[in-house]
Amino acid sequence: MGNQIKSVGIIGAGQMGGGIAHVCAMAGYDVHVHDVSADTLQTMLATISGNLARQVSSGKTTEAEREAALGRIHFAPEITDLATMDLVVEAATEDETVKRKIYQHLCPVLNPEAILATNTSSLSITRLASATDRPERFIGIHFMNPVPVMKLAELVRGIATEDQTFQAARVFVESLDKTITVTEDFPAFIVNRILLPMINEAIYTLYEGVGTVDAIDTAMKLGANHPMGPLQLADFIGLDTCLAIMQVLHDGLSDTKYRPCPLLVKYVEAGWLGRKSGRGFYDYRGDVPVPTR
Ligand code: NAD
Repeated sequence: MGNQIKSVGIIGAGQMGGGIAHVCAMAGYDVHVHDVSADTLQTMLATISGNLARQVSSGKTTEAEREAALGRIHFAPEITDLATMDLVVEAATEDETVKRKIYQHLCPVLNPEAILATNTSSLSITRLASATDRPERFIGIHFMNPVPVMKLAELVRGIATEDQTFQAARVFVESLDKTITVTEDFPAFIVNRILLPMINEAIYTLYEGVGTVDAIDTAMKLGANHPMGPLQLADFIGLDTCLAIMQVLHDGLSDTKYRPCPLLVKYVEAGWLGRKSGRGFYDYRGDVPVPTR
């Protein structure tokens, strides 16, 4: 099956939306990004521009390709500006109410043939699909962070997702030079079902005083050969997103082994959300990250 997708709308210009815009623009798609915050759109473009400049320096791409890619990224100040897109990827905050509201505003104007995908890390694709007018053309495309670097995307069908939608999504993801894994629609899918309980356990280890931030991250880097410690990784993902995923696992699987660590809740309540807010298990406001415990 050929690729019928030419234009891609992205909702949410955060860490993930920006990364998805980056790889789509590099693959030649016409990209239109919407966010509730105009500042976020500007920040996103500056980030993509910087990341592409690094790719030029390391010889992964050329300056001409960088400029062409940047030229393919457009801002969509209103969600209705995405009406003519072939595919819309929703990468807004991990909150079901937020996502449902977005679909409510988007669906009535969106091309009826368009595919709507969500980048949710954990929410039920079937339930999100039921909040749209096109469950058969709704699918989960779960990219990994940072999108330009990570090779995987999980493809998740809802109960109503049509085969054609699945095939179109597969062709799209492969055109971005990513490998897919297919996962059933269960809370947090495969990667986060395994990864987040480990991160939550690392936070319990910190909470119970078994080790310091540095001890826990060093232990897992050198003792388990992980490229990044679990607390460093939590900061990288965003502690609000980590908490949201643990809550989905806890609610969705009704097993107390998934209860979010109270210390994770406390950091989120403090607004210490990790890298994106300047502070989490590490403080990023100086030249080098400093553990906060
Ligand atoms: P983020 O906080 O960096 O970005 C979320 C963006 O959504 C923000 O810019 C916010 O302004 C915007 N937004 C909120 N409400 C909106 C609305 N009504 N309309 C338009 N934009 C809105 O979060 P993120 O890390 O980019 O995560 C986004 C999605 O991707 C979540 O569903 C998350 O679970 C998923 N995800 C995250 C990761 C990760 O490692 N961070 C990995 C894979 C998937």
